[in-house]
Amino acid sequence: MKPADYRALEDRYALPLYPKRDVTLVRGSGALLYDAAGREYVDCAAGIGVANVGHCHPRVVAAINEQAQKLITCANVFYNDTRSRLLQVLVDVAADNLTRAFLCNSGAEAIEAALKFSRLHTHRPNFVTAMRGFHGRTMGAVSATFTKKYREPFEPLIPGFQYVPLNRIDRLDAAVDDQTAAVLLEPVQGEGGVNLADTEYLASARRLCDERGALLIFDEIQTGFCRTGRFFAYEHFDVAPDILVLAKAIAGGLPMGATLLRDGISVAPGQHGSTFGGNPLACAAALAAIDVMQQEHLADRAARSGEYFERKFRSRELPRVRELRRLGLMIGIELKEKVQPVLEALLAHGVLALPAGATVLRLLPPLVIEEAQLDRAVEALHAVLS
Ligand SMILES: *Cc1c(COP(=O)(O)O)cnc(C)c1O
Repeated sequence: MKPADYRALEDRYALPLYPKRDVTLVRGSGALLYDAAGREYVDCAAGIGVANVGHCHPRVVAAINEQAQKLITCANVFYNDTRSRLLQVLVDVAADNLTRAFLCNSGAEAIEAALKFSRLHTHRPNFVTAMRGFHGRTMGAVSATFTKKYREPFEPLIPGFQYVPLNRIDRLDAAVDDQTAAVLLEPVQGEGGVNLADTEYLASARRLCDERGALLIFDEIQTGFCRTGRFFAYEHFDVAPDILVLAKAIAGGLPMGATLLRDGISVAPGQHGSTFGGNPLACAAALAAIDVMQQEHLADRAARSGEYFERKFRSRELPRVRELRRLGLMIGIELKEKVQPVLEALLAHGVLALPAGATVLRLLPPLVIEEAQLDRAVEALHAVLS
């Protein structure tokens, strides 16, 4: 079949939910992707922050192959060798206070679990989340999501959600009370435009939650697994959550989510569950991916590559750029114009990137991206933006 035929099939048979870009990707390796005609692209999207270890990392591919020949599915009512090892590794890489994990299959599902466990533990109904926050598309996760166009068509949603401006301690102080089950925050907002939380703000959130008996949930679905230059973004701020929500890069590209809880948040058999959650295939991929992150020092590499990118990017005066915001290799370039035409121009220059709202260009390259590949991305950005 020709590239145009694949496009025609998707356009004909898929629900038209996504604004599509005119490229059919068929193969990837590291930070490079290839389309159906064989053209090479520098990937600064990583499948929306999923391919942190690079596309088709040989260690992840080998782990999937090996596990696929042993056992692919295993209900959670039975023990499993691979799952048991992943649970231990997840709790080991997270903050000391996080001691148990629930495994599921996506970010939204991991958020749902965090919301349910919070109500269960506190016996309180309400949640405080941030304006411009994004937490997923299921009914609970979308109730926690600020953007009206994601929420309003689906009302009535889950009641009890309140949205406060990020980094306004006074507004958080006014919102958290004795009916608040949890405060839910992204340490760096992804979809909302790469907005960084202040250290002081997160420390205040921690203090307010402790004082008022609410839980603090960090949504690190996008910021986790070395993206920001630390294994988890909260390490930059020295504030540990009661519940940590993970997904995207966790399993090297396979679908998986995880909700980690601190000691003392207890749940009982039957109160939550998942058929596919913790399946051995995804667990094997996650074990390999996390090992690659550690062996290849991807957190340090993200920190260094982020700095390298920023230095190169700023070497040219770009009047169409309002601001660059960044933590590690989570990069937001706020433009003085709409981002969509810029994304299309970048595609023509062989670079795949993402939007974050109407005017922010978001770059989430695989953390294994090489300097020469970052140079190609910067050259394309300079060409397109000057
Ligand atoms: C992607 C994302 C989600 C939703 O994850 P899905 O796997 O698409 O359900 C939630 N929160 C954040 C911060 C995300 O980046």
